Amino acid sequence: MNLIFLGYPGSGKGTQAKLLAERKNFAHISTGDLFREEIAKGSELGKTVKGIISSGKLVSDQIVLKVIESKIGSLKNDAIFDGFPRTVEQAEGLEILLEKYSRKVDAVLFFEVDEKEVIKRLSARRSCSCGKVYNTITNPPLKEGICDSCGAELFTREDDKPEVISKRIDVYKDLTSPLISYYRTQGLFHIINASRPGEEVYSEIEKTISQAKI
Ligand code: AMP
Repeated sequence: MNLIFLGYPGSGKGTQAKLLAERKNFAHISTGDLFREEIAKGSELGKTVKGIISSGKLVSDQIVLKVIESKIGSLKNDAIFDGFPRTVEQAEGLEILLEKYSRKVDAVLFFEVDEKEVIKRLSARRSCSCGKVYNTITNPPLKEGICDSCGAELFTREDDKPEVISKRIDVYKDLTSPLISYYRTQGLFHIINASRPGEEVYSEIEKTISQAKI
């Protein structure tokens, strides 16, 4: 089964994808996480994408599809694509790649949440280099600024700074939101009310996946 999690940055896709991956043994493919790992390693790819990501723009479709192909090629289980595709060109590229590896998109889950809520969530997001993500309002760490899991100091991602947040929202509206009608016409589209507490959103996802014609 191949699922696409689509929605604004900050709509909760990443958090829910991590939960589903842990609880149901899905492979979690987050292009944002993959790029951040490359940046942390200081690889050539990391150097290429660093400035693009911190300015809130999108990495080129060509680079993204190359990274995705290397992941799809070695996939053994069900997969969640989180934050990918982000353009119609990437969606078309994904179809070709999945076909090459005898897979297909089974369902697209659209995380519906309004723009004001997204700005609030992204502004309150604090990240840890171990991968844990907190929200200073809804999910704060036990000790302010410190990760509960590994004890490291939390930080605000470069692209969660206010000026970059508004750029990312504009980019989403221009380039990513056309995917809503792209997938709706294919009959793969499911709306998830993502403005509710995390466990409620998770239950809706579970129900949606079990009812989808897969
Ligand atoms: P995310 O963690 O998904 O919000 O991604 C962080 C940043 O990585 C985005 O703002 C883009 O700069 C880049 N990125 C992640 N996924 C993609 C993608 N599918 N296409 C283009 N750029 C991406």
